Amino acid sequence: MSLLVVGSVALDSVETPFGKADEVLGGSANYFSASASHQGPVKLVGVVGDDYPVEKLEPLKARGVDFAGLERATGESFRWRGRYRHDLNSAETIETRLGVFSNFRPKLPEAFTDSEYVFLANIDPRLQLDVLRQIKKPKLVASDTMNFWIESRRGDLLELIKHVDILTLNDGEARQLTEQANLVQAARWILARGPRTVLIKKGEHGAFMFTKDSIFFAPAFPLESVFDPTGAGDSFAGGFMGWLARTRDLTDENLKRAVVIGSAMGSFVVEGFSITRLLEITRDDIIRRVAEFHQLVTFDRKMDA
Ligand code: AMP
Repeated sequence: MSLLVVGSVALDSVETPFGKADEVLGGSANYFSASASHQGPVKLVGVVGDDYPVEKLEPLKARGVDFAGLERATGESFRWRGRYRHDLNSAETIETRLGVFSNFRPKLPEAFTDSEYVFLANIDPRLQLDVLRQIKKPKLVASDTMNFWIESRRGDLLELIKHVDILTLNDGEARQLTEQANLVQAARWILARGPRTVLIKKGEHGAFMFTKDSIFFAPAFPLESVFDPTGAGDSFAGGFMGWLARTRDLTDENLKRAVVIGSAMGSFVVEGFSITRLLEITRDDIIRRVAEFHQLVTFDRKMDA
C-alpha cells in the first residue's frame, strides 16, 4: 500500500461539555494516519517545532506510520485551541497558531515521491499544492480543507481543487466555498471545477458522496455518547483513503464501502480525546462496526402487500 498524507501535526487544546484536554496530540495528519494505519502503512509529510513532544508519535510509528517526511524546525509547533458547546457538530476555533507551518517548504524524501494514493489533509492549500507537485504519478488524490483556508487562501484553494480527484469537506465549508445554500447545488459547483467526487460530511447526520451522476449517503453511527468530535473528519478520511489504498479498487461499489469504513473510523475517534481510541481499537472492532452500519441501513423494500 502506498499512501501519503500531508497535513498539520499539532498540539490541540480542546474543551467539550464532557471535559478538557490541554496540548494533546492532534492535527489533521496525525488523525488521518492513526485511522489509515488500520488498513496499512502511511507516509507522513509535515513539520513540528523544537517544542513538540516527538516521543508521543512513537505509538503511530509502531503502527506503521513513516515519519521520514516530518521536518523538525526551530520555533513553535502548530497549535489549535477549540471548543464544542452542546452542538457537537461544529467546532468553535478559539485560536490557531501556525508556528513553524508559516515558513514550511515541504521537501519530500525520494522514497515518498512515487506514492500512488495521496491525501492532502487540512493545511495551507499552497503546501498541499507544493506536495502534490513533487509526486510523480499519483493514482488517486483527495484533499480536505476548512473555513480558515477558505477565508484566507481562496484563490490557492480553487487552484488546488483543479488537480484533485476527490474533495472532502463538511456541509458548512461546502456552503462557504460555493456560496450555495443547497448541498446538491454546492456539490455540482465543486464537480464543475475539477474533482470527480465530492464527499460532504454532516457530523452526526452522516456523509454524502456525490459524483456527476450518482449520490450515495452513509449515516453516522448512532453513538450513545460522543466525548470529543475533534478529528472525526480526518479519521473519516483515513478510513476512506486507507481502504482504497489497501484494495486498489476504485469502482463505485468499493468507494461506497470506503465511505462506510470512513464513517466507522469517525465514530470511534469521537469516543475519546485525541487519537486514544484509534490506538485502542482492533481490526475486529472495525469489522463489527461496519456490520452494525449494514444492519442500520438494510431493509426489505418489497411493497406488494
Ligand atoms: P477535524 O477532523 O476537522 O475535526 O480536524 C481536527 C484537527 O484539525 C485538529 O486536530 C486541529 O489541530 C486541526 N486544525 C485546526 N485548524 C487547522 C488549520 N487551520 N489548518 C490545519 N489543521 C487545523
